Amino acid sequence: MSDDLSSWLPRIAAAIDEWQDSYGPFEPFPRSGLVGMEGLVEEYLARLTGDMYPFFHPHYAGQMLKPPHHIAVLGYVSAMLINPNNHALDGGPATGRMEKEVIADLARMVGFGEHLGHLTSSGTIANLEALWVGRRERPGTAIAVSADAHYTHTRMAEVLGVDALVIPTDAHGRMSVTALEVVLRTGRVGTVVATLGTTGLGAVDPLDRIIPVAREHGARVHVDAAYGGFFRILADDLAEASGAFTSLADADSIVIDPHKHGLQPYGCGAVLFADPNVGRHYSHDSPYTYFTSDELHLGEISLECSRAGASAAAFWLTTRAFPLTRDGLGTFLSPCLTAARTFHELLLADENLQPAQSPDLDIVCYLTRRESMSAVDRDTSRIFEQLIKARRQEQVHLATYGMAVGALAERDIVLAPDQESARILRSVFMKPEHVAAVTGIHSRVSRAAGHSMSG
Ligand SMILES: *Cc1c(COP(=O)(O)O)cnc(C)c1O
Repeated sequence: MSDDLSSWLPRIAAAIDEWQDSYGPFEPFPRSGLVGMEGLVEEYLARLTGDMYPFFHPHYAGQMLKPPHHIAVLGYVSAMLINPNNHALDGGPATGRMEKEVIADLARMVGFGEHLGHLTSSGTIANLEALWVGRRERPGTAIAVSADAHYTHTRMAEVLGVDALVIPTDAHGRMSVTALEVVLRTGRVGTVVATLGTTGLGAVDPLDRIIPVAREHGARVHVDAAYGGFFRILADDLAEASGAFTSLADADSIVIDPHKHGLQPYGCGAVLFADPNVGRHYSHDSPYTYFTSDELHLGEISLECSRAGASAAAFWLTTRAFPLTRDGLGTFLSPCLTAARTFHELLLADENLQPAQSPDLDIVCYLTRRESMSAVDRDTSRIFEQLIKARRQEQVHLATYGMAVGALAERDIVLAPDQESARILRSVFMKPEHVAAVTGIHSRVSRAAGHSMSG
């Protein structure tokens, strides 16, 4: 265990005990220690670590997974011992106020002045809420999402009974603005959903160009920045994608997941609205919520009821230690960009591998240099398997991503179409430790590629 956790966890637990003791003694239930605890913990740990991937390790570059920062763990565990519920200020006054502060910080980061917003249990729920408000604001209209948008948008559109019109992406995986304009001209679209950092390719939709055309046709703009939102801090470093991030200030609503790039444990998404008046859509008169405070309570502006106050506490503590600035959280994100760019450069010079496209953020997709779709697909599968099955110290964990023959051809990778789509390799470099590890990861992947290609 790190020094942080081993020194601070007991101190924090003791402080919470002391606070509890100040209310007067009582006999806790059950009275004595659990029998069989030793064996149970042993069995549990064997279950937990015996069938798990090493998300913490720089050689894990598969899905969007990493442990939270220790400061977030400290914040979460200490608040969890009290277990406040941020459905209302009265369910946890302290954590409710922390939530309002972190929401104000997020709003400042994206450039919203006035705003309404709150944390959610996930990006999916946050997006659902924004799409629901969009439907309230533009009844009877459809949403427009890119073909590479997160799969939950079409699912949530179905939940809301709203049509989802799918806009094709360009050769960089970004929403095609030309195709969007064609669809906007039909007058059917009430909300355009732009993604800043697609889950698959990490591509950034050109929000700076999307907003003006959406406005011209009276559509709202919702931004799904669940993955990429915190890169707003480093907008100046993002080359072509920088304009999209500085345009966040002009969006109607934005979703950002602190549990993706905000160093938090799962259970922490966020939704922000530029116009606080959307609060009128949340009518609610639950007889169960208690009104000892005059302030608009969080349950009045959220689709969800119970939410972990511990999530707000963890994010609050984290952002006090690492503010949403270049010198704060930015110090964690900047190495991720460098890692992805370094890996991309290594691929350009590689005999066996080639990038599918250049990275906008910290996700890189790549494939073997082959003649046919089936050969690429087979290599991908073999490389993935070989690297994951090696001895622990030699493992590399990657992900795969399906790409159609036409999408590869648009990227000037022309392959014999003996199958319609092929799996290619995908690496998410979302840990700062990746910057020191990419060269080693590249040489292992390249070696495995050479092995597959000659076998
Ligand atoms: C992860 C992700 C989501 C879904 O968020 P959850 O927190 O997993 O529910 C939505 N959109 C994008 C772009 C994502 O990367």
